[in-house]
Amino acid sequence: MIEKYYRPSDLRQAAVLKSENPNAVYLAGGTQVNRAPAERRIPEEVIDIRDIVSAGIKKEGTDVVIGALTTLQDLADSSIIPAALKEAAGFIPTRSIRNQASIGGNIGAGRPDSFLIPVLIALAAEARTAEGNIPVEDYIRDGHKELILDVHVPLPVGACIVVKESRSHVALPVVSAAVSLTVDEGLPNYGLSGACVAVGCVAAKTIRLTEVEQAIVSGNLKTGKDVEAAVSDAINPKADILGSVEYKTHINSVVIADAVIRCLEALA
Ligand SMILES: Cc1cc2nc3c(=O)[nH]c(=O)nc-3n(C[C@H](O)[C@H](O)[C@H](O)COP(=O)(O)OP(=O)(O)OC[C@H]3O[C@@H](n4cnc5c(N)ncnc54)[C@H](O)[C@@H]3O)c2cc1C
Repeated sequence: MIEKYYRPSDLRQAAVLKSENPNAVYLAGGTQVNRAPAERRIPEEVIDIRDIVSAGIKKEGTDVVIGALTTLQDLADSSIIPAALKEAAGFIPTRSIRNQASIGGNIGAGRPDSFLIPVLIALAAEARTAEGNIPVEDYIRDGHKELILDVHVPLPVGACIVVKESRSHVALPVVSAAVSLTVDEGLPNYGLSGACVAVGCVAAKTIRLTEVEQAIVSGNLKTGKDVEAAVSDAINPKADILGSVEYKTHINSVVIADAVIRCLEALA
């Protein structure tokens, strides 16, 4: 149960509150903070960030800048964010949750089945905090906890595809992944200069499949079956109520291979 509620009016006050109450969590949309599944308790101390963090989406040079309080519904409705991020926001099945859940909260929660974290990593997005910019990939991998003020997403050069798979429309996902390919004209193999395969649902955090990425760029994976085998070798999901190790390995391999092939076709 929440027993202490703070609502700072500026960032300095928020920083003081956080240092005095290190166990307090930030309260944004509250879809995660106020949710208490069997294995987790509702936090006892919260710092409401609604007066100090903004919502809204704007273009800044070649980036799109998204306020950390921007809701997933606003992302799903936006015409200026990359199409893959817009699609990923729509993966959260209920409008009432999309209307509350924020992009900052999605990164801050760091769920392994997040729909946004893989695509933000694939798009090389950065989280701006009071201490500076942190790539979303590092924020998740290194377990950062800084307050995110906004998210900077470079407009993609190349192709980016997001995929998800779940037993039913509202069930938790067994696949949440994003693939991006960057291009440099003049290079062989579609001009490919880089690849990112960011995968949730198969480890405690979203991970990158770096060996698969290298094999894509070097042209060693010729067919969908080649990609499936490479993904299957690179992941090690745990069995749980959503599926066995074999099922999760199979479904992730097939669906991610499909995303890689669709990305390559988009460049052809
Ligand atoms: C039943 C249910 C199922 C869901 N399933 C999924 C799913 O499968 N995939 C998915 O992606 N989402 C899912 N969601 C949405 C989920 O709650 C998201 O993680 C949501 O975007 C969290 O945003 P929020 O604003 O509600 O965060 P809050 O609940 O307010 O906060 C969540 C966490 O983020 C931290 N935080 C909040 N804002 C910031 C910030 N600006 N900077 C740093 N840290 C911050 C908080 O300290 C807290 O630890 C589900 C939600 C529900 C209710």
